[in-house]
Parts: sequence; structure tokens; C-alpha cells
Amino acid sequence: MSQRPGFPVKLSQTGAAGPAKKAAGAAPARLAAKVGVRGPAPGASAVPGSAGAAVAPAPVTGLGLDSGAVRARMVRKLAEQGVQDSRVLEAMGSVERHRFVESALVNQAYEDTSLPIGLGQTISKPNVVARMIELLCQGVPGKLGRVLEIGTGCGYQAAVLSHVATEVYSIERLRGLHEKARTLLRPFRLHNVHLIFGDGMLGYPKGAPYAAIISAAGGDDVPATWLDQLAVGGRLIAPTITPAGHQALVVIHKTEHGFERQVLEAVHFVPLKSGVA
Ligand code: SAH
Repeated sequence: MSQRPGFPVKLSQTGAAGPAKKAAGAAPARLAAKVGVRGPAPGASAVPGSAGAAVAPAPVTGLGLDSGAVRARMVRKLAEQGVQDSRVLEAMGSVERHRFVESALVNQAYEDTSLPIGLGQTISKPNVVARMIELLCQGVPGKLGRVLEIGTGCGYQAAVLSHVATEVYSIERLRGLHEKARTLLRPFRLHNVHLIFGDGMLGYPKGAPYAAIISAAGGDDVPATWLDQLAVGGRLIAPTITPAGHQALVVIHKTEHGFERQVLEAVHFVPLKSGVA
């Protein structure tokens, strides 16, 4: 149904946009990894690491409790904080966040806090991840279609997205994190997550149009490429500098008549940068 690139694929996205790239030694972005292969699509019930999944979970250490119970508590808190979409709450309850953080930080994995993931970057707070995905799902019955995530980081949010969307294309500009995410996501066998190494400011035209675009890094404005690659009816969410000079969540809805833009609450995301490193 959806056109899927072959693997590996050389991205030609920079072909028309050469001047946008000036980072030293910027390699052409390439689609580097399909994270896993499995037959049937993972529905909400395909809980990674749960009994019956292809990969037996390693016993959870350092949490002091069964991680499912700790996650359930996190989900209850998210609901209290106003997250209502059951698809999002289920996804947040399914993905083992502790597998994405350093072992020294495992005890904080289910607290509502952002955590370092290396190379100066952070995994977003669960509350912010859930809130942003809920905003993308607004008004969409069932699953989201293809989603583009800018800023794979450690891969946590991509894993959450894989539960609510048919396909997830996630792009990261730091090779070290792209590789880390590939390693961390592999055991989850999420066949619908595609990791791309490249400059997300250029989007990823091969997967376009997207039902949703989500950025985990904040820029001065929303790049025009993202708006172009968004499907009519689709939603984009990105931390963006407002005219008032602070970073806030901006939601853009692409309609037949143009773009509807909403500025929501203030947030603190790492900066959106161009080029790869
Ligand atoms: N969603 C991630 C959060 C990562 S933090 C997670 O769940 O872990 C944001 C990430 O955006 C960082 O890894 C940073 O390197 C990346 N980033 C910043 N600018 C980018 C760009 N132009 N293209 C792709 N990734 C970018």
C-alpha cells in the first residue's frame, strides 16, 4: 500500500537542496536500518518484550519493582496530567523506557523527567512525548498513517510512535545516536520503524506525504520542507521559537485551504541543527 524504500537506500533528498548543507564532511543521508523484521503488523497488543514476543525480556534489574507495574503507575500519572487518548496511554504503557536509558539512570526511567542519552542530547519527558503524540492523533480515528520523526535520539519516541502509526520514519543527524537507536530498538523487532541517518531539516521525501510530522528538536521556525511533506489533513508538531522569543509547541494542521497554526505551551527542547555529524 504505502511505497517503501528498498534497503539500504541512498537518499537523494539533498540533490535539490545542496546549499542548505554546509556542515563539514556532511555525508549524504542514507536510509540505514530497518529495525527488525516480523510478519504481522504489531498492533497495540504487540507489547515488546512481553510474554510471547520473539525476544525474551532480560530480567529487570535496578527498578526494584516489576517494570510493568512501574509503567502502569506512570500511565496513571499521565492520565491525571490530562492525557486522555487510550491509544497513546496504551503505547506509553507498552514501551519499556528503562531500556533506553543508561543503567545508572534506570531508577529514573519512569519519572516525569528528561534524561541524558549521550552527545549532549536528552530523551524527552514521558509527559511531553505523550502530549505531543496525543496532539498528532487528534481527530484521527484508528491508527495514524506514515509518521516522520525528526530527532531519533535513543529511539524511545520512535518505539512509542510505532504503536500508534502504520509506519514510522525517524531521522537523526548524529551518527552516534542513530547507531545507538538502531542497537536499542533491534530487540523490539518493530518492523514498521525505519531509521534514517541524515539532516531532518530536509525532511525525508521518500516517505512523503506524512499523516504526521513530529520534531524532537526546536528550531527558529518550521522548515518549509516539512510543510511540503505533510499530507493534506495531516498535523505537524514542533518546538519552535515564538515571536515572544521563547520556545513553545507549535501545531500546524494542513488543510485544503492552507495551514492552521496553533501555539501551545512553553517547552525546552534541544536545538534543531542543520547538517550531520
Ligand atoms: N525522540 C528522541 C529525543 C531526542 S533529542 C528520543 O526519544 O530519545 C532530539 C534529537 O534531535 C537529538 O538527538 C538531536 O541530535 C536531533 N536533531 C537535532 N537537529 C536535527 C536534524 N536537523 N535532523 C535530525 N535530527 C536532529
